[in-house]
Amino acid sequence: MRFDIFSLFPDLFTSYLSDSILKRALDAGRIEIALHSIREHGIGKHHVTDDYPLGGGGGMLMMPEPIFNAVETALGLPPASAQPESLAPKPEISTLPIILLTPQGRLFTQQVARELAQHSRLALICGRYEGVDERVREHLANDEISVGDYVLTGGELPALVIIDAVTRLLPGVLGDPEATQDDSHSEACLLEYPHYTRPAEFRGWRAPEVLVSGHHAQVARWRREQSLLRTWQRRPDLLAQAQLSQADQEFLARLKT
Ligand code: SAM
Repeated sequence: MRFDIFSLFPDLFTSYLSDSILKRALDAGRIEIALHSIREHGIGKHHVTDDYPLGGGGGMLMMPEPIFNAVETALGLPPASAQPESLAPKPEISTLPIILLTPQGRLFTQQVARELAQHSRLALICGRYEGVDERVREHLANDEISVGDYVLTGGELPALVIIDAVTRLLPGVLGDPEATQDDSHSEACLLEYPHYTRPAEFRGWRAPEVLVSGHHAQVARWRREQSLLRTWQRRPDLLAQAQLSQADQEFLARLKT
């Protein structure tokens, strides 16, 4: 999987990408990350990338030209314009997602991460300041993603969130291929059960006996019930989409009474 990142501050990515699982994924060639500086495509000798909003108002906006030029150059797209003779439709999202990070986009969830993990290449455009000129959304990006209902100073953290969540779903990235199976928000749509490690007793707090019993079937049932209990207590909205067995439904019915 290749990620093409477009940012005014590409150096922000290097620290996070140079450690732990993402570094190992990079070293093993499971992912490739190309950092593209929008500033390099800035206008004039000062490489200007922002300007005042038309119509007035506070803050600065990222101009369309440096972003279009950076993305078209890196992705090998013909220059798009409104001129009929040079009308180049933007790539289909199914061919190459060009994602604008924006708090106005569709919400990033584990389901969206799974969907993005099916692609071999993703382009992520990081905004800054008051955001980006609307023509980037209209004529360059083919998807818009928000990482939550709050506003950050830039799209770099959202891009890292997407890279991280998508990468850990790629084959061979996590040591144990089943590691993501029981994760919260995985396909089962339940929150994950609680985990304990050694020591089995810490400062007088004992881990549940079943986990040290060596009885695999009982451990599996306990975990499933804890998962159901947690979801019911914390995110009952998720239960509507969960795949529930007869035993699960009976357990939930007992909880409710
Ligand atoms: N004025 C914009 C609005 O109200 O929609 C917010 C601009 S924000 C200060 C600057 C940039 O940060 C955005 O262009 C976007 O790239 C990024 N950003 C901020 N919050 C985000 C979020 N929740 N999800 C994705 N990107 C976000």
